[in-house]
Amino acid sequence: MNNMKKAIQKLEKPWQLKEYGDIWFRKENKLWMIKETTHYVFHFEPNSIDAKEIDKIAEKAEERFAQIIRCLQVPKESELGVDGFKINCFLYAEPQNAGQVVGSGIDYGAPMRGEHMRHEECHAIVKKLVGEAPALFNEGLGSYLMGLSRTSQPPVINTGVLLALEKKELPSLKSVIKTNDFWRAYNERKVDVYQIGDSFVAYLIESYGIGKLKDLFLQTDYNDNDIECKLEEAYQKTIESLEQEWHRYLKGEK
Ligand SMILES: [Zn+2]
Repeated sequence: MNNMKKAIQKLEKPWQLKEYGDIWFRKENKLWMIKETTHYVFHFEPNSIDAKEIDKIAEKAEERFAQIIRCLQVPKESELGVDGFKINCFLYAEPQNAGQVVGSGIDYGAPMRGEHMRHEECHAIVKKLVGEAPALFNEGLGSYLMGLSRTSQPPVINTGVLLALEKKELPSLKSVIKTNDFWRAYNERKVDVYQIGDSFVAYLIESYGIGKLKDLFLQTDYNDNDIECKLEEAYQKTIESLEQEWHRYLKGEK
């Protein structure tokens, strides 16, 4: 038995950190190497492609973190509790694990690297900053922040959503605003609810500012069945009038 195995056997709890040359960490009985940066703790598998590229992966991740924080207009990290906050990332070498926020960490399967990581990181950062909102807003904000890195300037018009609107196939906000309804529509696969969330969130941010949306997140949570009222209170408009405004904005009528 080599020294590393001995050191791991000494761990009493599976999540216990143990220093051994490099720091090793155990999850699912795997060995993980660790790379820590200002805002991330990367866990990666020895002898993997990630192990070879970890410095580059870490550098790119810090660039994304800075962009996300800028888009969310976090004035001073410490004021909003991001100071000292680190995202735990597990970079699995196998392809079967999709990107997923699990507890305090994010699991990334092998195909999910680089820009694909941004969506899950947005969830982790937004959750830490202002908590979660129902899926339409949660996924919408994740998709919006992810898209900002690729597109240039607002307005962000999602052509798929615009097309559905013109064909009168766009579902009403009321029918997807609650988390359960959002995932039901997602599973039925008739419409891409992620695009709807992305488009509506883009409209809210570009018309009313990120501050109002952050306030809404603070007032609600993931499984809030009262989200319709919370939205109307936050924006001082009925859900129908917000929806009409959004549709006009999509069609360029505003
Ligand atoms: Zn997501």
